[in-house]
Amino acid sequence: MPLTLPTLPYTQDALEPHIDAATMGIHHGKHHAAYVTNANKALDGTPFANWTAEELCLKLGELPEDKRGPLRNNAGGHWNHSLFWTIMAPAGKGGGGVPTGPLATAINAAFGSFDAFKEKFAAAAMGRFGSGWAWLCVQPGGKVEICSTPNQDNPLMGKAIAGCGGTPILGLDVWEHAYYLHYQNRRADYVGAWWNVVNWEKVGQLYAAGH
Ligand code: MN
Repeated sequence: MPLTLPTLPYTQDALEPHIDAATMGIHHGKHHAAYVTNANKALDGTPFANWTAEELCLKLGELPEDKRGPLRNNAGGHWNHSLFWTIMAPAGKGGGGVPTGPLATAINAAFGSFDAFKEKFAAAAMGRFGSGWAWLCVQPGGKVEICSTPNQDNPLMGKAIAGCGGTPILGLDVWEHAYYLHYQNRRADYVGAWWNVVNWEKVGQLYAAGH
């Protein structure tokens, strides 16, 4: 089965004013779609053509060298964006607020408080030079950690490739294509506004399923 572009779980303008409709349309319909197309091109006719994006990320190091680069970028890009759309929701309608339950407990245990977590996560997003992602990952046993990866790498690819590991439960795209139309160079404003659309219920489900 070729990889497919998932439908957005909300309308293109649903995350406004924090993420504008034009950015959302181009980001999902052009950028994410291109990762899917290019991943399928690289997969065509190979023995791993029916692997999921998650399997391709987890087992990237096992792929032949000529496929590793294109799939690192494009299966990675597909997996990352597929997560990204689902961990957001319209502000006040599932988006924003604070984590609850076991996820809140894990965040407090790791960072001291939700505010301290937000500060550290924003620093990871701001500190990523050029294009990449900031992540909150769960480790076996339930501990949560923050890290950042370049380009379309993600922690599923493992420490040797991505520089950090774990199961991502929250990811923030800090490529300029994610914010430049509305925020221009002001990445900090985008990161600050993004908290208004984080779907903590979904992140909590991913936390529970991820360890
Ligand atoms: Mn993106």
